[in-house]
Amino acid sequence: CGIIGFVGKEPAAPILLEGLERMEYRGYDSAGVAVRSETAGLQIRKTKGRLKVLSDLIHGGADLEGELGIGHTRWATHGEPNDINAHPHVSENGRIAIVHNGIIENYLELKEHLMRQGVRFTSDTDTEVVAQLLEFHYNECRNMLEAVGRCLRRIEGSYALGIICADYPNALIAARKDSPLIIGYGQNGNFIASDVTAIIKHTRDVVYMDDGEIAVLTADSVDVFDDEMLPVEKTHSVIDWDV
Ligand code: GLU
Repeated sequence: CGIIGFVGKEPAAPILLEGLERMEYRGYDSAGVAVRSETAGLQIRKTKGRLKVLSDLIHGGADLEGELGIGHTRWATHGEPNDINAHPHVSENGRIAIVHNGIIENYLELKEHLMRQGVRFTSDTDTEVVAQLLEFHYNECRNMLEAVGRCLRRIEGSYALGIICADYPNALIAARKDSPLIIGYGQNGNFIASDVTAIIKHTRDVVYMDDGEIAVLTADSVDVFDDEMLPVEKTHSVIDWDV
C-alpha cells in the first residue's frame, strides 16, 4: 500500500518511519522496515498492526543502524495480515529484502517452480515470490541489476518495488509497473516513495517513474533504465503544493 525508501548520509530508520506515518491515511494492516549497515548487516523489523507498534519495537528507529533502507505499510491482498506476511520480504539466504505494492498474478506458478528447485518459502504472500526469484537469478548472474531485469521479465501483474541487497551496501533499486512510484532528489540523499506526501518534507524535486522502468539510487546519484536496461533521461518535476 505505502512504500518509502532512502539512501543517503543520515540514519534511514527515522526517515522511513516518518514517511510511513505520512501515508497512514491510505489505510494498512501491518508495517515494516529493512535497514542496511556495514556493521549490523540487513536488519528487518515488521509487525501486524499500527505504525506505533513498529515504531515502539525499534524505539523510533534508534535500534536500527544504517543509512540505506526501505519501509512498507501493507494492505493485504494475498495472505492474511500477520507478522510473517508483513513486508519487507527477504530471500531464503537473507541477502535480498523487498517491499511491494500491487499483485503478482502468476505467483503460484512461480512459487511452485521455485519450490521444486528446493527454495523454502516462509509467507503466504504473492510478494515473497519476487524476493526468492530475485535471489535465484542473482545466484545465476551475480549482478543485481541484471537479476532484477530477469525477475521482472518473469512476473506478471502490478508492482511498485523497493529492493536492497546486502552485497550492494550503497544502492537502492526501484521498479514499477501499474503502481505509482516516484524518485525524490534530496540534499542528504535520495528517496523512493509510492506517494509524494511521504517525502515532501525532505524534497520537492521529483521524477515520476514510468511503467517498465528500473532505477538505481545511491546517496548522490540516480540512474533510470528502461525494460531493456538502456538509460533513460527523465524530466524532473517540482512539487509546488503543500500537504
Ligand atoms: N500483494 C501484496 C501483499 O498482499 C502487497 C499488498 C500491498 O500493496 O500492500 O502482501
